Amino acid sequence: MIPKETIEKIFDAADIVEVINDFVNLKKAGSNYKGNSPFSDDKTPSFMVSPAKGIFKDFSSGEGGTVVSFLMKHEHFTYPEALRWLAKRYNIEIEEEERTPEQMAAQSARESLYLVNQFAKDYFAKQILESQEGKAIGLSYFKERGYNDVTIKKFELGYSPNNSSALTKAALSAGYKLEYLEKTGLSKTNEKGSFDFFRGRVIFPIHNLTGRILGFGGRTLKTDKKIAKYFNSPESEIYHKSKVLFGLYQAKGAIIKKDTCYLVEGYTDVVSLNQAGIENVVASSGTALTEGQIKLVKRYTNNITILYDGDSAGIKASFRGIDLILEQGMNVKVILFPDGEDPDSYSKKVGITELEEYLHNEAKDFIRFKASVLLTDAKDDPLKRAETIKDIVKSIAIIPDQIIRSVYIRETSQFFDISEKALLSEVNKILANKRSSHSQEQRQQIEAVKPLAPIQKRGSSDGSHSLSDQEKDLIRLMLTYGSIGIQVEIEAQESEEIKKEEIPLAQYIIEELLSDDLKYVNETYQSIFDEFLDGIENGLIVNDQHFFQKEEATLSSLVVDLTMPKDSVSENWEKKHRIYPQEERHKLKQAAVESVYMYKLRVTENMINGKQTGLKEEIEEKEIYSLLEQIKQLNQIRNTFASKLGIIITR
Ligand code: ATP
Ligand code: MN
Repeated sequence: MIPKETIEKIFDAADIVEVINDFVNLKKAGSNYKGNSPFSDDKTPSFMVSPAKGIFKDFSSGEGGTVVSFLMKHEHFTYPEALRWLAKRYNIEIEEEERTPEQMAAQSARESLYLVNQFAKDYFAKQILESQEGKAIGLSYFKERGYNDVTIKKFELGYSPNNSSALTKAALSAGYKLEYLEKTGLSKTNEKGSFDFFRGRVIFPIHNLTGRILGFGGRTLKTDKKIAKYFNSPESEIYHKSKVLFGLYQAKGAIIKKDTCYLVEGYTDVVSLNQAGIENVVASSGTALTEGQIKLVKRYTNNITILYDGDSAGIKASFRGIDLILEQGMNVKVILFPDGEDPDSYSKKVGITELEEYLHNEAKDFIRFKASVLLTDAKDDPLKRAETIKDIVKSIAIIPDQIIRSVYIRETSQFFDISEKALLSEVNKILANKRSSHSQEQRQQIEAVKPLAPIQKRGSSDGSHSLSDQEKDLIRLMLTYGSIGIQVEIEAQESEEIKKEEIPLAQYIIEELLSDDLKYVNETYQSIFDEFLDGIENGLIVNDQHFFQKEEATLSSLVVDLTMPKDSVSENWEKKHRIYPQEERHKLKQAAVESVYMYKLRVTENMINGKQTGLKEEIEEKEIYSLLEQIKQLNQIRNTFASKLGIIITR
């Protein structure tokens, strides 16, 4: 095994021009070079080389890659063989001994953690379906709680055998390293050996936004109060509890559709509400709500409704977390369940109709709710009353929208029977303080960017578009300029100031796609997208080099294709691909926005096509109207994108 640092050194040193020249010279010298040479015929090779990036593209075959893939192809080297050849050529020493655990961990630790978790998830799920114990205990527990097979599958629920090391043994014999089992918290080791963390528990896997497994929650089946009801995977390199919401992966689509998100406390609340047909639910899994979690929800909706247990002791404690939601400019409502009920138990007690009615009727405005809870506490104590009013005013001051603030001020003045003027001046005092501490960047002007009209490409014969051009373009932008900051406007909130924030281009694109729950059709593009997302969730932006050093040749070849510096490319090629590098680099924001809108426009058009096809099939009258209504709405969406892009729709 070659350590990652050495691989990086080799990539740094190895000059693709020199290596190709070596081969040309070997050929000219008529040496007994026996490789599968690209130069074996007399044709001049048509390599396009970027010495700066260390990549090449062969225009006759269309293939491209790094110096390593060049050698792999022309010498039939394996990946390590190519690396060794280069190391020798450039006098780089390779420590042939096994890598130290730290080096191994560093190389692909994160990927390994995901793989181990996936193995465990599959293992736990299999128990429920196939093992005696799993069926008799795990499955029947879930059935008893009313979960059907669809629900169990949707949440990939499982069972961990009540055996000291069943999973650890299975994973080790499947080739997974103990190190990663420990890092994910799945296994623990003491003087007696290694054993499972989850034993005899039903398992709730915790997914990230693309469905990979970050960790697990495990519920005991014992009623013994001394045993912790839930065990959770510890924080790891891939699992950061403050940035994860249980159920969001399954809820995304429904949150967008309903334009609201229910926030509950526990795993079972999420699963039971889903089973009852309410799918836009997520849980913070017992921890206090964080800003990171709120931002996750904000990608999909601006409306959050918090569901409290009837006997929830933590209502007042949760107010701080809710201020964070207000701060994001989101609308917050709360629903209190009857005494002794949580969303899980209540959803089982009443039918779906009654549950929906309850959610609809009982949703209360947060500020009003907070005021009444605190006021009940304060009773007639004037000092406590004053504290309460100040507390409410603080929440109001946090709300970014001025009009909403004034409405609350009026209402609060009536509620506490205190003058509006006094409240207003208190709110303004807080705001003035905040303003002076914030810098000017929030007052910057929006630069007016008028998008160029992109060339319209015709779709296929049935009118639907292959999305691959648009997907490719987005990936290309992310690979080429991913870490460069672009200014984005934060949704207009306060009338007099427009907030601008600089975020990396890759993050902008990712958030745009996630906000509509869009997934690429092309799996390779999606896998590149996932790596970007994964990086961003951990605070870093991957770049083309990240993919070049990967072993999969198809991936690095594709990345070469997309990032080959275009200034070395013929004019024709530029025209054909509509790439104007100089222009693009200087108008990155515009390029990114255009690409995103173009992609969304095409996705919308495909949805319209799908509905129109639906219309042609035999359907009932009622459905026709609903389809027509959907088409109408989609057309409006399409036209918004089109007009932003400066395209005139003719059909
Ligand atoms: P159930 O209905 O199975 O009893 P619940 O979701 O109602 O589960 P609660 O006791 O209401 O469980 O706890 C709410 C959430 O708090 C749980 O889903 C879990 O995420 C977290 N939690 C509860 N107990 C623990 C614990 N001992 N350790 C860690 N997290 C816990
Ligand atoms: Mn419960």
